[in-house]
Amino acid sequence: MNKRHVLAVILLCIGSFQAFSQNLLIKGGWVFDTESKSFQKNSGIYIEDGIFGEGEGASDWEVLNLSDADYVLPGLIDLHAHYRVSYDNKAYDDTVAMPKIFLANGITSTFPAGEIEPEKMWGLQEAIDANERPGPRILHSGPYYGTAAPDWNSDFTEQQIRDRVDYWAKRGALGFKAKGITKEHLAILIDQAHKHNLTVTGHLDSGFRNSVNPQDAIKMGIDRIEHFLGGDLLVATTSAYNSLKDLDPADPRLEEIIQLYIKNGVYFDATLGTYGAIGLVDSPIFEDWAFENQYFTPFAGNVIKNVKPSSFNELCALIYPVKQGVLKRYYDAGGLITVGTDRPLLLDNYLGGGIGGFFIHREMAAMVEIGIPAADVLYFATQQNAEAFKISDRTGSISPGKWGDVMIIKGNPLEDINRTRSVHTVVKAGKVFDSKTLLEAAKVKLGPEN
Ligand SMILES: [Zn+2]
Repeated sequence: MNKRHVLAVILLCIGSFQAFSQNLLIKGGWVFDTESKSFQKNSGIYIEDGIFGEGEGASDWEVLNLSDADYVLPGLIDLHAHYRVSYDNKAYDDTVAMPKIFLANGITSTFPAGEIEPEKMWGLQEAIDANERPGPRILHSGPYYGTAAPDWNSDFTEQQIRDRVDYWAKRGALGFKAKGITKEHLAILIDQAHKHNLTVTGHLDSGFRNSVNPQDAIKMGIDRIEHFLGGDLLVATTSAYNSLKDLDPADPRLEEIIQLYIKNGVYFDATLGTYGAIGLVDSPIFEDWAFENQYFTPFAGNVIKNVKPSSFNELCALIYPVKQGVLKRYYDAGGLITVGTDRPLLLDNYLGGGIGGFFIHREMAAMVEIGIPAADVLYFATQQNAEAFKISDRTGSISPGKWGDVMIIKGNPLEDINRTRSVHTVVKAGKVFDSKTLLEAAKVKLGPEN
C-alpha cells in the first residue's frame, strides 16, 4: 500500500464515521403523511446518511424521543425566499442571520428567487454543506433575468441570454426567476432553461411599458408565476399593481386566465401575506409574535425607526382583499398553488412584522383564513412545492430515498394553522437543530453594521 492508498483508506474511514454519526431515529409523536394529508402515529422515522430510509440494521443510532404533543412535518420549502437586504439604494444578500432564521422556522429548502450576489450565495451553500454554518438548502436561482439584475442589459442578444443560462446551470442553479424582462428575452430564457430541465418563474406585470403579462408567458411555456395571475383584466395601459386594486375577484372574465393555468399545469405563488403586511392590515396573522426587532443590528433598527407609511402601503391595503378573493377562486377551480414568502428586507420602507423565515407561518395562515383547508396548505408548502420545482424525487415528503428533512412543532396544525409557529426542532439531512439556539445566534445580526 503506498502513501496515497493509506490516505484514501483514512479518508474513507472518516467519511463513513461522519455518515454513521448522522443516523437518526425519530420516535413518538405524530407525522404528516402527504398522501392522505393527515397526521398518523409515528411508527419511527429513520434517517441514514442524511436520507430517509427503512431503518434496516438500525442499532446504536441517535434517537430523538418525542411526546404525544409533537407533530412532525416534512421540512418546509420556501419558493420565494429572498436573502436580500436593501437600504439607501444599496442591496446585498444576507448570509449571516437569514440562513439561521429560515432554518429555525422549519424551512429546510429555499429558492432565493433572484440573487443579488450569486457568488456569495454559492459560498454560503458550501459552508452550510460542510457543516461550518447552519442554514437551509439553497435551491440556487443565480441572478435575476431582467432589469432587477444589477448587471442586466436590455440589449442582450439571444446568444448572451442562452450563455447566461448555460453558465448558471453549470454552476448548479436549480431554477430561474425573471423580473423586469421583455417578451423576447423571456421566451429565450424559458427555452434555454428547459434544455437543462430547469424551471422558470416570473415576477411579471400587465404588459405595460414593454412588460410581460403572465398569460403571454404561459403561452411561452413558463412553469410558475409570482404575485399576479395576469390575463386581460390586468390592462396594459397601467401597471399590474394599479389595475389589481380595481379588479373584482367575481368578474366572470377571470375564469379564462384561471383555466389557462390549469390547462398548462402552471403554478401560481400568490405571495398573499406580504400584501397584507405591507398594507398594515389589522389581523392576528400579521402580529409580531416573534418580537422580530431583536434580530436587527442597531444600524438597521435605526433605519427602520424612521420609516413613515407611504402610498405603497395604502395601495397594498387595497390589493390585499382582491388577492384574497382571486386566490380563493383559483383554489376552488383547482388551480395549482405554491408557497413563497417574498420578504426581502427593504429597510427604507420596513414597517414591521415581516422577516422572511418567520413569514412563512403568516403566509400559510393567510391562505387558511380565506378558506383553503390547512391540510392542503401544508401539502402545498411541502410536496406540492417540491413538485413545482421538479425536485419531488428528493424532498417534499417523509419517504425513503428523500432528504432527511423535517420540522417538529407542538400541537396539531390542522386544528390551528398558527401552531406551525411553535416549531422547536428542525432536522436537516439527519442533523438535529434546536430552533431557539439558532434564533439566539441570529439576534442583533440582521442588516448592515453601519
Ligand atoms: Zn420577490
